[in-house]
Amino acid sequence: MVPLEVGTEVGNWQITNASLQLNDSYQDSLAVSYWDKMTSLLPTDLLEKYVTSLRLYTDGPQEDLGGLNQLDASNKYWQLDLDTADFNLYNQDSVFVLDYTHTLIHEFGHLLTLNATQIEPTKDIRQDDTKGYLTSEGYAIQSSYLGKFVDQFWPADFLLEWDKIDQTKNEDRRAKKLFAFYDEYSSRFVTEYAAENPEEDIAESWAFFVLAEKPAPHHDGAQKVLFFYQFDELVSLREQIRSNIDTLPVSYLEVYKTEKAF
Ligand SMILES: [Zn+2]
Repeated sequence: MVPLEVGTEVGNWQITNASLQLNDSYQDSLAVSYWDKMTSLLPTDLLEKYVTSLRLYTDGPQEDLGGLNQLDASNKYWQLDLDTADFNLYNQDSVFVLDYTHTLIHEFGHLLTLNATQIEPTKDIRQDDTKGYLTSEGYAIQSSYLGKFVDQFWPADFLLEWDKIDQTKNEDRRAKKLFAFYDEYSSRFVTEYAAENPEEDIAESWAFFVLAEKPAPHHDGAQKVLFFYQFDELVSLREQIRSNIDTLPVSYLEVYKTEKAF
C-alpha cells in the first residue's frame, strides 16, 4: 500500500450493530480491513451496543494515534478514530503488531469503563466528593469498575496530590510535575502513561490484565492487574481477546517493568 499523505482525512463510516455501512467511497475496502481487524480482536457485544462510527485519518507515525471517543455527553455513542500510520495493518513486524494490539485493547478499556452504564453524566466542573470520582465524562458510579478502582488505588490524599498537578495551566510544567509524580510512585503504575489520570490508569492496567499472565502480588502495579480477576465477566472478555491473538507475548508485565525489578 502507498502510505497516505500526512494530514489526510480518509473518511468516516457509520457502524450499525457492529457492522460497517459502506459509503461508496474508494476507501471502502480500507475501512472494511480496519473494521474486520477490530471485530476479529475485540468482543463484539460492547462494539454493537456503543460504537456508531469509524473514522480513518493520518497525522503520520506517533502524535495522535486515535482511539475510542464519545460522540456526545450521553456516553452512549462512540467513534473509533484510527491513524492508519500507527495502525498500519500491512506492517507484520511482531513488535509493531503487539504495540497496536496493546493500544486497541487499551482503547477498548475506555469503552468498558466510561460507557453509559459506568459513568453518570453531570454538569459539575469541580468534583463533589460525596458523588465519587469525577471524570471529564461525568461521575464514576460507585459500583462501576472505575469507581471501585479509584476507591482501592487512588486514596483521597493521593488523588489530591495528582489533582494539583493536573490543574497546572502551563502544559510543559504540568508534564514535568506529572513525571516527578510518576517517578516517586512508579511501583504503583504499570506504565508511565498510566499516571496521566485514573481513566488512563485503569485502561493501561486492563491492557496488561488481558496481555500478561496472572502476576504474583508483589507490587501495587501487579495489584492493579489482579483487580480485574474479581469480575468473572472481565475474565471471560480476557479469554475471548486472548483467543483472538495469534502470538501472546511472554512475561509481558515483567518485560515492561524490567528496569524496576518487578
Ligand atoms: Zn487512553
